[in-house]
Amino acid sequence: MDSLIQMCDLKGQYLKIKKEIDLSIQEVIDSSAFIKGKEVSLFQDELAKYLGVKHVVGCANGTDALQIALMALGLKPGDEVITPDFTFIATVEVVALLGMVPVIIDVDPDTFTIDPQKLEKAITPRTKAIIPVHLFGQCANMEEIVSIAKKHNIYIIEDVAQATGTNYIYKNGTIAKAGSIGDIGTTSFFPSKNLGCFGDGGALFTNNDALAEELRSISNHGMKIRYYHDIIGVNSRLDTIQAAVLRVKLKYLNEYNSNRVMAADKYDNLLGNCNKLITPKRASWSSHIFHQYTLQLVDGNRAELIKYLSEKGIPSMIYYPVPLHAQKAFELYQVKAFNKNFPVSDKLCESVFSLPMHTELTKDVQKYICDTILNFLH
Ligand SMILES: *Cc1c(COP(=O)(O)O)cnc(C)c1O
Repeated sequence: MDSLIQMCDLKGQYLKIKKEIDLSIQEVIDSSAFIKGKEVSLFQDELAKYLGVKHVVGCANGTDALQIALMALGLKPGDEVITPDFTFIATVEVVALLGMVPVIIDVDPDTFTIDPQKLEKAITPRTKAIIPVHLFGQCANMEEIVSIAKKHNIYIIEDVAQATGTNYIYKNGTIAKAGSIGDIGTTSFFPSKNLGCFGDGGALFTNNDALAEELRSISNHGMKIRYYHDIIGVNSRLDTIQAAVLRVKLKYLNEYNSNRVMAADKYDNLLGNCNKLITPKRASWSSHIFHQYTLQLVDGNRAELIKYLSEKGIPSMIYYPVPLHAQKAFELYQVKAFNKNFPVSDKLCESVFSLPMHTELTKDVQKYICDTILNFLH
C-alpha cells in the first residue's frame, strides 16, 4: 500500500465538502458572533429535528454533557448511578466527581452494552439513575432498561457519544433515534465521532420542557436571566464555529453512517469465516453505525498481531484495554463494583481490537488489511 492507512481519515472527509465548510466558517468570522451566534440555535433545531426530540442543548464536550445531565436531574452526593464496566471513562468520571457513587456492572457479551439482567440486581433504594452507553455505534437494550427503570422510578441518561444517528428498534417495529428514549441523551462532537466537529463540542437532548430549561441554565453558569444565578452551574457552550461545521456535516450524517456500515459489511465478508476471530454481532433491537469495528481475537496473541499489522502499515487500537472497575483512578473514590465479578468485560479487555473505520475507507485498503490479518493468523 503506498498511501498511509489511518484509523480515521478526517482530512479526506473534509476535502470532499471543503467549499461548504470553509464558507460556513468564514460566515461566522465575518459576523464575529463567536459565542451564541445564530448557527448554534440553528444547529440545535436541525439536530432536534433529525433525532425527533423536542430540545437539543449544545455544550462544550460530551463529558460536560454527562455532568450537566446529572446536575439537571437534581442528583445528590451519595446517590448511586449504574454504569457499564466496559466503556470510555467519561461516563463514570463525572459521577465520581459529583460525589455520587458509580455502581459498575458487567456488559452483554454480544453487544458489549449494559446487561439488563445484571441491572436489576444492582438496584438499591439509593439508585437514582442508569447511564447506558450505546457503545461502538449500537444501542443498549433500551426496552428492557426502560421497563426496569420505570419499575424502580430511576432516571435514564443515554450516552450517545458513539451512536449519533443509530436507530433503536422496538419489538413492535417502532423506530426511535438513540438518545431520544431516556430522560436525557448526551453526545460528543469530538472530531472522530460519527458526527464530529473541528475541535471539542457536545450536546444534550430531551423531550421534557422543564428539564431543557435546567440544562440551558446549568450549562450557562446557572443563569436564566443574565447575571441572576439561581443555582451553581458550569461554563459549557458549543461555540459558533463548531456549530457552523456541524450544520454542514449533519446533512451528510446518514451518508457517513451508511459508508461505515458498508465498510463493516466488507470486513464481515472478509473475516467472518476465520474461526480465530469473532466479528461484531448485530443486535435485533438496534441498527449499528460502526463508530468502531471491534473484533475479538479468540485464538492467538493479540500483542503480536497488533505489532505485525503495524509493521505492515496498518494501525489498530484496543478499545478498551482496562475495565473501569480496575482503573487506578477509582481507588480513591467510592465505587461500588457490584459482585466484584466482571467475567465479560475482563475477557473483552483481553481479546478486543479495532480496525480502521471511517467514511473514506476503500475496498482495496480493506482487502489489504484483512489479507494481512489472515496471513498472520493462518
Ligand atoms: C467520546 C466519549 C465521551 C466523551 O466525549 P468528549 O467530547 O471527549 O468529552 C463520553 N462517552 C463516550 C462513550 C465516548 O465515546
